[in-house]
Amino acid sequence: MTLEHKINRLRVFIMLRLFIVTFLLFMTQVVFETDNLIFYYIIAFVCFLSIFYLGWLVTGRHLLLLTWTQIVVDILLETILVLYTDGIDSSFATIYVLSIISAGILIVPWASFAVAAFCSFLFSVIATAIHWGMIPKILLVAGPVASAAHDPLYLFYAIYVRITIFVVVAVLTNYLTGTILKLEEKIRIQKRLAFLGDVTSSIAHEIRNPLMAISSSVEVLAHDLKDLVKGETRQLMNAVVDESERLKRVFSQMLNYSKIEDLKLQETSVQKLLDHVLLVVSHDKNLSREVTIQKQYPDKQIQIEIDAEQMTDVFSNLIRNAYEAMPTGGKLHIRVRENRNLVEVVIGDTGHGMDKRTLKSLFLPFKTTKSSGTGLGLAQVQKIVALHEGKIHVSSQKGKGTQVTLYLKKESD
Ligand code: ADP
Ligand code: MG
Repeated sequence: MTLEHKINRLRVFIMLRLFIVTFLLFMTQVVFETDNLIFYYIIAFVCFLSIFYLGWLVTGRHLLLLTWTQIVVDILLETILVLYTDGIDSSFATIYVLSIISAGILIVPWASFAVAAFCSFLFSVIATAIHWGMIPKILLVAGPVASAAHDPLYLFYAIYVRITIFVVVAVLTNYLTGTILKLEEKIRIQKRLAFLGDVTSSIAHEIRNPLMAISSSVEVLAHDLKDLVKGETRQLMNAVVDESERLKRVFSQMLNYSKIEDLKLQETSVQKLLDHVLLVVSHDKNLSREVTIQKQYPDKQIQIEIDAEQMTDVFSNLIRNAYEAMPTGGKLHIRVRENRNLVEVVIGDTGHGMDKRTLKSLFLPFKTTKSSGTGLGLAQVQKIVALHEGKIHVSSQKGKGTQVTLYLKKESD
């Protein structure tokens, strides 16, 4: 969340509190026909506090402390209100939920639990103290009922009901704010990806033609000068050829990535597509020859509606990654399975696996751990799978291997 976003939220929170307190306490005066000065004092105090908070907010400093201060002061004010309105039977007892919700929204989702626990504690103490007559009667102004008349079972019941409400509100706040935060993060990443896609495609288009010219000239030059140059110069020349190859690869992947837009769906056999990709990849001279392939296919061909060309890119990227994770050989396991209206394609390897950090940023463009990688393969996979309304799941253990599972719909809607 940006600083501006945080400041805006706090500003709304401060104004909202002022409105709620003023409205609620005026209404209380009207409904109960009391003329209790304490309500006016609280309104005046909240006005003063709001000015103080707004002043603090303008400085833009220690905003977390400001938020906690507001929540704690609110809880104390709520406690005073509950106390003055005969604690155990107070119609204000549930006002604590406002602080529980605010903490979850303004701080972190779990803060609502901490605040719920604190409020439960305060309410229990007040209710018990009033019940045992430990608070002077003069302080209990608005309460219509003499608490001492209630028995301990009633006290227990009243506390139990309030604590249950606080906990339920905390659970709901924690769940909802957690879900909203995750959604916000998803939207942020998607915006970033869309922006990156635009930039990438315009850069790639600008540079592609001169790059192709440079790269083919370098290849011709290298070929012609092969016998004339020796030693370090030859090494340098090879490096130039290799790097220009790599640049070409990066650019064609960048263009591929930005080109993915619509699908040309056609009935395709998943097994046939996988076999075609396996044939091509297993004959790539840059990949290990020591990989054994284990296939686990159902007896009949599974036909699904996909864009065959783009899905070839998906399988090719995943199988290549598996090969690249096993430079000294290993087992590549391909399994296809039907599961109601889904088709599961699992591509597993016994390669070097990856750590948690790599796993977390797996689908971000340009994230690669390979010296000659582009980091665009899985970004492309994710984009194509999402267009097919499919899902992708990756699990990996460092040193043991990786398993990628694709869930594809059998028929598109
Ligand atoms: P690239 O292959 O060009 O690095 P990718 O987007 O295909 O880009 O993959 C991103 C990163 O994810 C790789 O650099 C690698 O660290 C990790 N990765 C992907 N697949 C595997 C795998 N099967 N085993 C281990 N690491 C993998
Ligand atoms: Mg790759």
